[in-house]
Amino acid sequence: MVLAELGGRISRAIQHMSNATIIDEKVLNECLNEITRALLSSDVQFQLVRDMQKNIKAIVNLEDLAAGHNKRRIIQQAIFNELCKMLDPGKPAFTPKKGKPSIIMFVGLQGSGKTTTCTKYAYYHQKKGWKPALVCADTFRAGAFDQLKQNATKAKIPFYGSYTESDPVKIAVEGVETFKKENCDLIIVDTSGRHKQEAALFEEMRQVSEATKPDLVIFVMDSSIGQAAFDQAQAFKQSVPVGAVIVTKMDGHAKGGGALSAVAATKSPVIFIGTGEHMDEFEVFDVKPFVSRLLG
Ligand code: GDP
Repeated sequence: MVLAELGGRISRAIQHMSNATIIDEKVLNECLNEITRALLSSDVQFQLVRDMQKNIKAIVNLEDLAAGHNKRRIIQQAIFNELCKMLDPGKPAFTPKKGKPSIIMFVGLQGSGKTTTCTKYAYYHQKKGWKPALVCADTFRAGAFDQLKQNATKAKIPFYGSYTESDPVKIAVEGVETFKKENCDLIIVDTSGRHKQEAALFEEMRQVSEATKPDLVIFVMDSSIGQAAFDQAQAFKQSVPVGAVIVTKMDGHAKGGGALSAVAATKSPVIFIGTGEHMDEFEVFDVKPFVSRLLG
């Protein structure tokens, strides 16, 4: 189910409830069950949805609501708060400071949109007056360096990589050192993604992270991966200190639920979303406006 559809379905469930003459336990349960179904079909992890339902029921005590209170608004507010809570791990991501070198490492499976997102992130900051640079530490996929080089050249962002060196750790370290000397304030390290969750990939991420000591590790996730989001995000989190999430491909037929699962699995906030293939199809992610829009 695409995001807009999810929002519509939740809004309709609330509307349906508020049309009832009396809002009792049964009506509330029906509403919450419909919201649960909507969230599950948007790929939000089962456990998260169950917790949300429990929390709402704990907050909304129908018997305690004095006559005349707007039950609909109270329930609507509870749903809004719960969705916000699911997307807000309670601590903000590391924010780089202009003029001071920060190392940002990107991780994610192959095809998640990692390389594209690295350039988008660099370009976004460059437009705001930063001096970003890109390092290609993906030595696994043939063509990875060419792709990064092409993107970087288009955006006029300095880049570092090698056609011959096969050790990603070595390239990452050399790239970071090079750009530190050049006074770049945002050194972005793109890493390998391979095509599935192999132990070797996670070991490689751990080594690159240990050698470059990133200020922030960003987990890039394709919004269309569905229920696999939680396990995938958790697997990365167990190998490297993921501190933020970027969800890609939120345009088109994206399901939004995976974002909620990724936040839960990494205990890190979503900081940006990708909304297209182009360099500027990239948006800052804010929880409250996102949920408001979702609920219409
Ligand atoms: P990587 O293997 O993780 O580095 O992934 P790539 O950056 O090569 O991206 C894989 C594909 O997804 C490419 O065709 C990108 O153009 C596309 N892509 C990346 N981000 C987005 C996005 O936000 N929206 C859309 N529609 N496509 C995207």
